[in-house]
Amino acid sequence: MLSVRDAADIIFNLVQPLDPQQDTEVVDLFAANGRILATPVTSPLDFPHWDNSAMDGYAVRYEDVHNASTEQPVNLEIVEEIPAGYQPKLTLQPGQAARIFTGAVIPQGADTVVMQEMTHREDHRVLILTTPQLGEFVRRKASYYQAGTQLLPAGIKLTAAEIAVLAASQCPQIRVYRRPRVAIFSTGDELVTVNQPLQPGQIVDSNQYALAALVQQNGAEAILLGIVKDNPEALQQTIKQAITNADIVISSGGVSVGDYDYVDKILDGLGAKIHIRAVAMRPGKPLTVATFSNFYSPVPSPQSPIYFGLPGNPAAVLVTFWRFVQPVIQKLGGIAEGGKPEFMKVRSRDELRSDGKRETYIWGRLHLIDGVYEFHKAGGSHSSGNLINLAQTNALAVLPVDTTLIPPGEKVDILLSQVMSHTT
Ligand code: AMP
Ligand code: MG
Repeated sequence: MLSVRDAADIIFNLVQPLDPQQDTEVVDLFAANGRILATPVTSPLDFPHWDNSAMDGYAVRYEDVHNASTEQPVNLEIVEEIPAGYQPKLTLQPGQAARIFTGAVIPQGADTVVMQEMTHREDHRVLILTTPQLGEFVRRKASYYQAGTQLLPAGIKLTAAEIAVLAASQCPQIRVYRRPRVAIFSTGDELVTVNQPLQPGQIVDSNQYALAALVQQNGAEAILLGIVKDNPEALQQTIKQAITNADIVISSGGVSVGDYDYVDKILDGLGAKIHIRAVAMRPGKPLTVATFSNFYSPVPSPQSPIYFGLPGNPAAVLVTFWRFVQPVIQKLGGIAEGGKPEFMKVRSRDELRSDGKRETYIWGRLHLIDGVYEFHKAGGSHSSGNLINLAQTNALAVLPVDTTLIPPGEKVDILLSQVMSHTT
């Protein structure tokens, strides 16, 4: 059976990023949070826009003060007061200083700022009590960023810091990739919606909700297609509808080898290319991944839709989404580094066990203990049918094939819920 790593590589290579010319839209900066920048941004402004002071103090000519000390202060005439936002009028002449405040424009003639703690004011004069360095406390025009050079590259996620940079650069609107469109449906005769009364043998379709949240968290648009019965015609109809409207289709249930698991057969019938039918992992073994090169999508997309048939078990849905689907949404959505999952090694508080036959994912939570992350396995049953103890999961411990035991206190690989290097 296919290893998780091989499956992940196959899946990752099936996807192409959205087209930076066609698959974009312009959004207001206030609506840009979490979006992926589609074109590099340059600014016609220098940063700082002008030479300005990093301190409250006095703008001086270095030449005048290069021998100043407490014993032999230099006495300068204050010719102007320059608060922030004010345009200086005068050019400093020898023997002159200007009172200046943080962020205010350095006057002509001055090249250095002496912080006020190193001065003594006497009416219209100031005593300079120290020798500053040439250029000290002057933030030079264009020293942070030079007008016309690249300010932000394409393919980064916009969060608070980037949005502040764009605002400061006077970009009220920006071009971002459109959101990937992800169609979601659940299969199973036993499923009812959250507001239907439960009959014996039935369960609520929780996967639809979980998947919608996961999809939205990844910056994509969730297209909800509801519950589909274990009925080949109904399934075929829904799959057809899904692949003509979305970049990615996610179904849950119906992909194992039960008598009512039709998904693979229908995909075959629709001419899909099935790349994966099962992966050596627990939970998540029955996993179908297919592409449709024969279907035209009205949504401009650089590629044919990708179909993920996830197992029905809620734990398997979470694990396979994090491991396989999330990287695809990120890469398709235009993230430049692609969005491959990131692992870290942390100590496990609890004993972790596996049969060693398949790569095993154990859900739990990272806790920060005295500044060090520690994995705490979720309490309760780790049956893949149990969704109750999935609550509060923010990390998965990964036991490779042939590892049957991680004793308490030992290190274990952790898959995080989010890719930290491009998420804040
Ligand atoms: P399946 O993959 O269809 O054999 O389903 C495996 C298990 O997951 C069964 O116990 C189902 O009842 C359960 N299951 C399937 N679909 C869902 C769903 N949408 N929400 C919650 N549980 C589900
Ligand atoms: Mg089923």
